[in-house]
Amino acid sequence: MGGTVMGGLVTETVRPGVQFIPDAAAAFRRADAQVRAEFGRGIRVALTFRSWANQMLMFVNWNRYVAGLGPHPGHSKAVHPSESFHVQGLALDSPDWTIPRIVQILAENGFVRNRLHVKNEEHHFEWLRDRDKNYGRPATAGGASTNQPSEEDDMYTDDKHREVLTASREILLYKMGTGVVAVGDGGFWPLPSEAYLELLIAWEIAGPNVVKRTIDQNELTAMLALKRTLSPMSTGAAEKVEAVLNLTAEDAERIAASIGRRPVVISESALAEIAKAAAAGAREGGESGAAEAINGLSFVTTIAG
Ligand SMILES: [Zn+2]
Repeated sequence: MGGTVMGGLVTETVRPGVQFIPDAAAAFRRADAQVRAEFGRGIRVALTFRSWANQMLMFVNWNRYVAGLGPHPGHSKAVHPSESFHVQGLALDSPDWTIPRIVQILAENGFVRNRLHVKNEEHHFEWLRDRDKNYGRPATAGGASTNQPSEEDDMYTDDKHREVLTASREILLYKMGTGVVAVGDGGFWPLPSEAYLELLIAWEIAGPNVVKRTIDQNELTAMLALKRTLSPMSTGAAEKVEAVLNLTAEDAERIAASIGRRPVVISESALAEIAKAAAAGAREGGESGAAEAINGLSFVTTIAG
């Protein structure tokens, strides 16, 4: 997998603004057909898929805001992309959570509200294959048949799914002066050189995004606390970072040189521009408006490249 945002992730657009991995798209079509049959309209959708880069930028901006270093980003708290089901093409935010029958139809098709323990997440559904009672069935409820693209379904294999999960990175990289600090679940690590940074990126322990700005110890501590709260389940990222850091400097340089991948640096002005666009977008269209506005910035698509 290269440095692309979600290398290997195949998504399917059900209708404009409604995008999932094929299995979740098929489940949504079934639920949508049933809702149409009973309510005479489709499921209302606020947000489905969001790219790794967008989620990362929203996460960074939210942390900046919380640390008192930036304006309100115009969206609610954004989790790290490794924790976002939206980034995996599995999540649905819908204002229809207020209608019990629609919640029931969604649940029967695997879309479960499993973030109810988090404040302001009542609208958030995640598709879970184990919970999908109609898995593999066509979307024909109430006679409202819809097209079922089997070709794309075949493209999403277990291997692909593993790739998607691997693409979920748990370590954030910050430039501090001339140095780099990696921040993750298990703590934070000053990186001795760019070579170690490249290894973390190349081995997909960290994302390709590097936030270039000065941060102080207080902020680092705050970020750490926040990250711990957001990631109750550690998946060994800390151990993997330790393993990289245990390499000798020579080995790190040699291996990194053979990889030849450069980290991408987000400048302070780019971050400010992103925050501004997000705030403006949010005023127009809420969370999805903010995501769209960020997406529209010319430099955003290149951040994870
Ligand atoms: Zn959501």
